[in-house]
Amino acid sequence: MESCSKCGDPKIIIKRKQSGQALCKNCFIENVQKKVIKTIKKEELINKGDKILVALSGGKDSVALLDILYTFYEKKVIDLCAVTIDEGIDKYRDEGVKIATDYAKELGIEHEIVSFKDSFGLTLDEIMANHNHRGSCSYCGVFRRRIINKSAEKLGADKIATGHNLDDETQAILMNYLEGNINNLSKIGPKIESKVFTPKIKPLREIPEYEVGLYGVAKDLNVHRASCPYANTSFRMEISKVMKQLSENHPTIMYSTLKGFDKIKIAIKNQYSNVNSFGKCEICGEPSSGSLCQACSFLKELQFE
Ligand code: SF4
Ligand SMILES: [Zn+2]
Ligand SMILES: [Zn+2]
Repeated sequence: MESCSKCGDPKIIIKRKQSGQALCKNCFIENVQKKVIKTIKKEELINKGDKILVALSGGKDSVALLDILYTFYEKKVIDLCAVTIDEGIDKYRDEGVKIATDYAKELGIEHEIVSFKDSFGLTLDEIMANHNHRGSCSYCGVFRRRIINKSAEKLGADKIATGHNLDDETQAILMNYLEGNINNLSKIGPKIESKVFTPKIKPLREIPEYEVGLYGVAKDLNVHRASCPYANTSFRMEISKVMKQLSENHPTIMYSTLKGFDKIKIAIKNQYSNVNSFGKCEICGEPSSGSLCQACSFLKELQFE
């Protein structure tokens, strides 16, 4: 019978297809934490004394991320705070907000909840019911980014940490490549820095989605497991299915996609780094590469539809 490759415990919870490694619960938890710390060190994601804002949806990724970053907080290496966004998605978002709120309270960290309705006057459901010529995720992504950036400024955060995992990251690489959106492709990476916004970091980007989920189960973390009702309609979901299917016979394909991309990223970045010079949005005054920022141009479009 198979036992843990590290300690010999016969109760294994994972056998990695790519390496053949089998791990028990404790060794798996330790292994994931070590991998995340390795990414943080290798990519220089965190400096001592940083105040990190976690984008906390209550889902498995952001909860696991907060759990791991909390170990740095406990050792007083960093300060932590969190923001949860209520997009206004009926029968879905409320549970995530509750889980996020309870977890932030349990850890005793600063936490705020910001809604689309309060920030922009519309819930995502209202946007999609009345004016939906763009996909839900386009509106959601742009408005969510705006709220996260504002929260980071308000809370005085040095960095914004998001729970993007290996699957998310490789989906983004493929999506932007297939759409020919090389400008967006140039912005993908472990640390996204710009002159005007708080840097964003992705400590989980080398951990496969399945393992992030298993980490939550192994640590008995309470996470929101439902998926967004709009998720099925997205191009990302189509890409996700293709990648999962390819991974069946090629278990390292996501990792090699990420590693390959990281190698060519520097060249792409040099080509595209001058494209986005920032001015100010004419309506809201936020940094913007055009006369209107994306959030204001979406809001304007919504008013005229
Ligand atoms: S799936 Fe799309 S609409 Fe749903 S929360 Fe994610 S980005 Fe927003
Ligand atoms: Zn073990
Ligand atoms: Zn604006």
